[in-house]
Amino acid sequence: MHHILLLGGTTEASALARLLGAQGISATLSYAGRTENPRPQPVPCRIGGFGGVEGLVAYLREHRVTHLVDATHPFAARMSAHAAAAARIAGVPFVALTRPAWRMEQGDNWTGVAGIEEAVAALAGPPRRVLLALGRMHVDAFAAQPQHHYLLRFVDAPDAPPLLPDHHLVVDRGPFSVAGDRALLCDHAIDLVVSKNAGGTGAQAKLIAARELGLPVLMIERPAMPDRRELFRPEEVLDWIAHTPATERGV
Ligand code: NAP
Repeated sequence: MHHILLLGGTTEASALARLLGAQGISATLSYAGRTENPRPQPVPCRIGGFGGVEGLVAYLREHRVTHLVDATHPFAARMSAHAAAAARIAGVPFVALTRPAWRMEQGDNWTGVAGIEEAVAALAGPPRRVLLALGRMHVDAFAAQPQHHYLLRFVDAPDAPPLLPDHHLVVDRGPFSVAGDRALLCDHAIDLVVSKNAGGTGAQAKLIAARELGLPVLMIERPAMPDRRELFRPEEVLDWIAHTPATERGV
């Protein structure tokens, strides 16, 4: 009997949860707990960290997890490292469901940076009007460049206001359209977009809108991920589950 632990927090994880639910495959979807009121899911959910690699190993054993699927966001590097390590220790078959990174296309004007710190440093200079499309965890770092006007878009209203002295906050969990994002960029007279290279379609509208408007993008490249098998479509994960026997646990 299969029991899948699906590490989520992404559109792809929710899509896989739907497929697992529809197939009647026993699964638990795990959230970090960053988003208030996550959308209802067709499989049981648990919320909150596991307590590092050790905690996850204990969870895998206690709940007799037969397959571990890491469908967290491409920037959730800690969880992904923990998942790979815990699966190895517990002897649980493991795969990642992720998305290819976005690539520059004709008309794009991107500058790549390695991480948030480098993005902050790249913003040194005269005041600009910046769409900071990063989520609330990372925006405060940009207080080090207080000269800019920042347009922020969060999934939930934050408990405390962002530390940026000059900002405008939009609360919207999408889905976003190119026309909608183009209007947003125009209405706020944005002249630079800062984005993580998340990949996928959910957050791509702003980049297409930036291309159409000829706006530059500061693109934060992905963190390194552990050595692991990666699949890109939820259907491939179902196939992998069907063809991967649960190995003996209790290592
Ligand atoms: P992270 O830095 O890799 O994870 C930090 C800690 O949060 C992990 O060590 C783990 O705690 C806990 N955690 C993360 N994902 C979890 C999950 N799915 N279930 C249970 N615990 C989880 O991750 P993050 O960047 O803070 O992202 C947190 C969540 O938001 C992820 O689930 C991710 O898919 C989602 N998300 C992230 C981004 C982003 O840009 N980073 C964007 C959209 C969605 P323990 O060590 O205690 O187990």
